[in-house]
Amino acid sequence: MEKGSKRQIVYIGLIAFVFVVYTLKLASIQLGEVPYKKMAINNALNKITLYPSRSNIFDRKGKLMVYSTQMYDLSSFPYEIKKLDTGLLCSILEIDLPTVRHLILDARIRAKKRQKNNAFNNSALFYANLSNKQFTLLRENIYRLPGFYIESRTDRQFATASAPHALGYLGEADESLIELDDYNQPGDLVGITGIERYYEKQIRGIKGVKTVWQDRTYTERGVVQDTQFNYPSTAGPDVISSLDFDLQEYGRLLLNGKKGSIVAIEPRTGEVIAFINNPDYDPNTMVGRERAKTFKSLLRDDQKPLYNRAVKGVYPPGSTFKTVMALIAMQEGVLSPETTHGCAGGYRLGSIRVGCHPHGGPLDLRGSIRISCNSYYCQVFRDIIDNPKYGDVKLGYAALEKHLRSFGLGSQLNIDLLGESRGNIPSVAQLNRRHGDRWKSSTVISLSIGQGEILLTPLQICNVAAIIANRGWYYAPHLVKKIDGYKDTGWDRKYKIKKFTTINPTYFTTIIDGMSDVAKPGGTANGTGITDIEICAKTGTAQNPHGKDHSIYMAFSPKDNPKIAIAVLVENGGFGATWAAPIANLMIEKYLKPGVETSKPAMEERLKTSVIK
Ligand SMILES: [Zn+2]
Repeated sequence: MEKGSKRQIVYIGLIAFVFVVYTLKLASIQLGEVPYKKMAINNALNKITLYPSRSNIFDRKGKLMVYSTQMYDLSSFPYEIKKLDTGLLCSILEIDLPTVRHLILDARIRAKKRQKNNAFNNSALFYANLSNKQFTLLRENIYRLPGFYIESRTDRQFATASAPHALGYLGEADESLIELDDYNQPGDLVGITGIERYYEKQIRGIKGVKTVWQDRTYTERGVVQDTQFNYPSTAGPDVISSLDFDLQEYGRLLLNGKKGSIVAIEPRTGEVIAFINNPDYDPNTMVGRERAKTFKSLLRDDQKPLYNRAVKGVYPPGSTFKTVMALIAMQEGVLSPETTHGCAGGYRLGSIRVGCHPHGGPLDLRGSIRISCNSYYCQVFRDIIDNPKYGDVKLGYAALEKHLRSFGLGSQLNIDLLGESRGNIPSVAQLNRRHGDRWKSSTVISLSIGQGEILLTPLQICNVAAIIANRGWYYAPHLVKKIDGYKDTGWDRKYKIKKFTTINPTYFTTIIDGMSDVAKPGGTANGTGITDIEICAKTGTAQNPHGKDHSIYMAFSPKDNPKIAIAVLVENGGFGATWAAPIANLMIEKYLKPGVETSKPAMEERLKTSVIK
């Protein structure tokens, strides 16, 4: 045979093969369509959403903090509700006729919105979170209520009431959240605050779909057998939080009766170990049918239980800031461990006077931290910004500001929560606006002791403690340690970047030595220390224009290889040593000696039971 005719046969064979395949395919489609066609005459196709279970959230040691619970809703095809037996519906749901009308209207609005995104889905939530009794009655009577069906979803249950501001709550997706992410449909429960909100995309899991044939009464007549139209939901992955369940519970007990915040961080990793605010709320009241009602009443509560003061509240850091000022002064070459300053009950400069409590003197740097001498820090501050090497107070101040910003101050630390405040580190321009163009070091002297325009969040104060514990670096604080199955997806990229301050690590030694004296005899927090645990700390008292001073304390422990850094702020608590210091020190003891009774039962009891108005 010739080459050419061989090729011809191959071509003919190929064409014949394609023809046969095509014919068979056509036949199968037509044959397959017969039952569908038959179904379609009397039935309608509908997509029903299969809701996944949200992630379980565990603490750093594997204790369950939040989990999902099954709930049932009455859903509907609101445009197909005809000849409704309203009496039956009213009696099962225990509602009146106007309420039924109202609910139908609501469902129609939801269905309209839903159809905009998804033409096949014209169902909508009618009545959320059925009680057991309602569920049982509906299951028996659903055939008498055409256009309605029971849908299963998941809600939340909290194993601990101690971390509502970290974990967050769920709510129904509103317009803005649907606009932001068209995965959300009207009626869907989504994370509104906390970890629930920040990690919503991971925590929510993936919805499934069931496509069904329904007859004219919207009763299900069969499921479409095609994987393209039917797939199960996927539960959210397990989430491991960095929080310590037991430490949370303990901190909440100690802060009882007081307004304020406790934040603790593991310095080595930036993981947040404790995150407590008081007032707060019981997260189990923010679930189920009571959610909306509870939310409204919490919003109206003048104690502001929803307010996340640990990241939103800003306060002058007071004397805790002296540690930072000393580090910067050493870096600028205007302070050494041997530098001494006297104190005559305060610092005087012309008409300016900054008071100090009575103490012996003169003090060196280590002593100035132990005693918290105001005069010492007025002098340190002036030495920084009046430094002759700059020749201009504003250039001197700009140098100070640059160092302060390297501590992550004046900007968000990027914790995994929304709405974090930046606090305030005043710029030269801000000081110009406030004090006029011709201010001097004496004009802004209150900055030296952490007053004036300097404002920090409790989280930032804690992070300063973590930075000192690390001798000059930190990781952005974060509340989530691990998300199952998300390794190497980069979700935690920003928490793996080591950030360095502008301070040479060697300068931390004297400051830390001074801090290790604070909770010992002769220190400002004497009497609050814990035997056998070396705590490095600094007290602070922040002036409050609205009332009594705030009590502040930041600390870390142990001195070497620190495991915990902590900041406690008690509003209107007066001296740092009165409330904030004992709370923080007991928290440190609890964390370093878990499961052991406190060595200071009287101090613990006083904190648990005292109330500050
Ligand atoms: Zn003094």
